[in-house]
Amino acid sequence: MQAFIEPLFVNIAIVFSFTHLLNMFFPLHPGVIPSLKNKVIFGIISGFGALVCMMFPIETLKDSFFDLRNVPIMIVTLYVGWLPGAICSLFVILARMAMGGDFVWLGIVLTFLAYGISLTYQGFFDEDKRRWISALYISVVYTLFYILLIHTYLEFLTLDFYLVYFSSFLIAFFSCIFLIERLVKINMQLKESVYLDKLAVAGQMAAAIAHEVRNPMTTIRGMIQFLGSTTIDEKLKEHSPLLIEELDRTNKIITDYLSMVKPDVPKLERINLKNVLTDVVSLTAPYGSIHNVEVTVCDIGSHIVNIDEQKLKQGLINIIKNGIEAIDNTGSIHLYKYKITKRNITIAIEDNGKGMTEKELEQIGLPFYTTKAKGTGLGMMVTYKLIRDMGGKLHYESELNEGTRVLLTLPLSTKSNQLQEEVGV
Ligand code: ADP
Ligand code: MG
Repeated sequence: MQAFIEPLFVNIAIVFSFTHLLNMFFPLHPGVIPSLKNKVIFGIISGFGALVCMMFPIETLKDSFFDLRNVPIMIVTLYVGWLPGAICSLFVILARMAMGGDFVWLGIVLTFLAYGISLTYQGFFDEDKRRWISALYISVVYTLFYILLIHTYLEFLTLDFYLVYFSSFLIAFFSCIFLIERLVKINMQLKESVYLDKLAVAGQMAAAIAHEVRNPMTTIRGMIQFLGSTTIDEKLKEHSPLLIEELDRTNKIITDYLSMVKPDVPKLERINLKNVLTDVVSLTAPYGSIHNVEVTVCDIGSHIVNIDEQKLKQGLINIIKNGIEAIDNTGSIHLYKYKITKRNITIAIEDNGKGMTEKELEQIGLPFYTTKAKGTGLGMMVTYKLIRDMGGKLHYESELNEGTRVLLTLPLSTKSNQLQEEVGV
């Protein structure tokens, strides 16, 4: 018994410490797609995790070694995708080949089994809100295939071995998923509270300024209106409507900013996303053409999303305007469908402007963060809030001097399939 407990704890400790290590460098967040560089780093760290597991086998029988190397492979493939899973598997295969013995081929086949099954069910796992159920399903399928293989080729294995090894695997696999789910939850709470803190500061300032500025503005507006209608001065008569228009515009800007502070419940409706994108592109195209930027959208097909149309439009306009302003000479902004799952659709808004450094990327959306002489630094902050309020997500990817891609994820209406049939798509 002790011979089994000890390596089991060592293996779990290894898997846990590597998971913590990953989370320290790249806080785990659901729905955020890591960059290519981060995926490679995820693959390498989990590969090392698997190698350390191989150094502490739970059982060594003849030339076969049983350890928990498959746990990092499965976890990283399920949570991060095919690339890190492939890197981790490659580490394991090379190490197993270096170890040699009669059963090298079986070790390699079992590695492919762990990778293949995780890859097959990755989409299903990613989508499932109750991860436990899909994890249980995956582990059962994996265990059955595993037993089938080793039972056929390694006849010397005893029933005791099966019990010890598979209970270790299941304990490690599920504790790892438990740990990751906890970490994700903690990260989200942390991000949320930091965000709300910043919002509160900006909100209080905006509310105070708005209050102070609005009252004298109302008086000025009334005076201009009065003078404009009673004066015999032709110039004042001619210009007073323009003055009033400008005052109204200023008032609208203040109202918009205040809308960020006020708890405003979005009016969620079932809307065809294609129409919103087409509208937004026609609204922003004139501003684009002034700056020699072409704004285009692909035919994304009909997808019914559950959103507040006005707020989504406002957010998209802010994103596209930033893209246009990031292009110095000529360029283009392109909107297209990036990814679709059972619950969400992700739209990419890509520009070939000046891009951002990693440091700049981190600051985007913070109150008053701007790099423009006449910028307010509130556009993205408002946009983040609008999108979050309707259950969406916004993610920025950028390469300096190459361009920026904004990934906007929106909840699909649950009845979308039915409606798509109704509209004949
Ligand atoms: P503002 O547009 O008033 O500066 P925003 O909150 O809209 O405020 O944007 C904040 C900053 O983020 C911008 O000043 C700019 O530096 C950066 N930014 C936003 N979108 C892009 C983009 N597509 N490309 C490059 N930089 C961007
Ligand atoms: Mg802006």
